[in-house]
Amino acid sequence: MLTYADLVIVNGMDASTCISSLLYSSNIGIHTTILFLYNSKKDVSLLSVARYAWEHDEKRPNTHTIPLGCNVCHSIRSWCDARAVKRESGEEFTVPCLSTSADGVRCSGKYLIPARPPSTALASPYVGTWYSYNLGSLPPDSTPADSLPTDSTSLPMLS
Ligand SMILES: [Zn+2]
Repeated sequence: MLTYADLVIVNGMDASTCISSLLYSSNIGIHTTILFLYNSKKDVSLLSVARYAWEHDEKRPNTHTIPLGCNVCHSIRSWCDARAVKRESGEEFTVPCLSTSADGVRCSGKYLIPARPPSTALASPYVGTWYSYNLGSLPPDSTPADSLPTDSTSLPMLS
């Protein structure tokens, strides 16, 4: 967040105009989605809210995080590489578990990665892409967690 301090606090730039630079200057997208709340008009008591979700073909396909373990065999990091699954960009797909038991039987676990929601891609100078979702506006005294849709990273497993 040194870039935020440099651009917004030191140089006085509006945070909403440099959000792309802020997102691409950090590795935080590997770990979480970002909610950006800002008041663009000083005399209006509304907060604009945008959601930014990072996408990477292997780490966060369709902006979703693949769970660490398989819920069928409980193996860790046993999912097929998402890049190996043939699909169109942004469409729903399934990754199978590649774990095998001691007697050679392959696990039946699968994980459904939903399609990327309608969004706008931000300029992508590096590996991975940020997508923005306009979530509307909130009165300043409301709590975003009470009003906004939740991130759909906890999705049902297929078996
Ligand atoms: Zn499994």
